[in-house]
Amino acid sequence: MKKQTRCIHSGTHMDPATGGVNTPIYTSSAFHYIDSGDQPYPRYFNIPNQKTVVEKLAALEKTPTGMVFSSGMAAISTLVITLMKSGDHAVLMDDMYGGTHAFVTDLFERLGMKHTFADTDPAAVAAAVRDNTSLIYIESPTNPLLNVIDIQKIARIGKETGITTAIDNTFASPVNQNPYELGIDAVIHSGTKYLGGHSDLCCGAVLADEELSARIHRTAAHLGGSLNAQTCYLLERSLKTLYIRVAQQSRNALDLSRYLSTHGAIDRVYYPGLETHPGYDIARRQMSGFGGMLSFEINESKMTNAGFMRALRLIKPAMSLGGVESTICAPALTSHKKISREAREKLGIRDNLLRLSVGIEHIDDLTADLEQALAD
Ligand SMILES: *Cc1c(COP(=O)(O)O)cnc(C)c1O
Repeated sequence: MKKQTRCIHSGTHMDPATGGVNTPIYTSSAFHYIDSGDQPYPRYFNIPNQKTVVEKLAALEKTPTGMVFSSGMAAISTLVITLMKSGDHAVLMDDMYGGTHAFVTDLFERLGMKHTFADTDPAAVAAAVRDNTSLIYIESPTNPLLNVIDIQKIARIGKETGITTAIDNTFASPVNQNPYELGIDAVIHSGTKYLGGHSDLCCGAVLADEELSARIHRTAAHLGGSLNAQTCYLLERSLKTLYIRVAQQSRNALDLSRYLSTHGAIDRVYYPGLETHPGYDIARRQMSGFGGMLSFEINESKMTNAGFMRALRLIKPAMSLGGVESTICAPALTSHKKISREAREKLGIRDNLLRLSVGIEHIDDLTADLEQALAD
């Protein structure tokens, strides 16, 4: 089946009691156990709604199986703690989601774990590997600069060294990129973003093979970051439209990135679908669409970020991303606020940088909103 079809049919099971076409929501946290094998319990990640939504997600990420969590950070922290113990080292990237960066810098030392933030160049990742490295963790495209990492090269480093590789695939979504097929061991999502897609739920996922999933499962039951049946169902419902949403978001983002590139009040646009983007060739190879996220720098001699954001009528200043509605934020004031200005500038995150999460509105309305706000 193609992804469009998998979105709708994989992991969705008719109601056996009524013949209804949707998976029923099974709210029980206690299940009759005499003569039954697998004992379902929400924190064991094995209640019916958790299992069915995992089936759909795994079908979309083309992995054998996986797990859903109560947030993206629950998925990330559980994965990390599964793969690392005191004394172990992880290679991560310097350009990374702020929450993951904060998890590493706040907690690793306390847990006796070491880390290196490497450059997004695979050679830098390879050079950062030590004898005690047990995890290589990447993102692509990255937040907020949309850097693109050669996923196959990272997977190869993992295979050669025997180190588990993981990727945060939130920005690309399973519609545009399937890292497991490129050799990555674990694919992570903040389902709060594109998978949920309507800015109204919080969840996370890890998709992997049976063996790694079973290892994560054992840690996860201790840490307890499982997802309730109602949100599992909401996620399943959202996933039915994932393909058409992300396809439209990717088309809109490409159009807007081209429009902004030619605008006199914009200094620079970061979007992997632009031929001028340094990661364009790699993105074309490993992605089927370039995604709904783009960033750009306003020319400060023409207008301030604050003035521009206040002038927007349709596009909403908001911190999250991946929803059907277009949202915008200034990373220096939101996701990367806790990082010093010096460290930010080193990463290339300037104060005039804005990150746009493109929604599924009509492209003409989005362009018109940017046009009028930039003319103010
Ligand atoms: C939001 C986000 C996360 C964290 O997800 P939560 O659901 O907020 O815990 C992780 N990675 C990326 C890339 C994100 O955008």
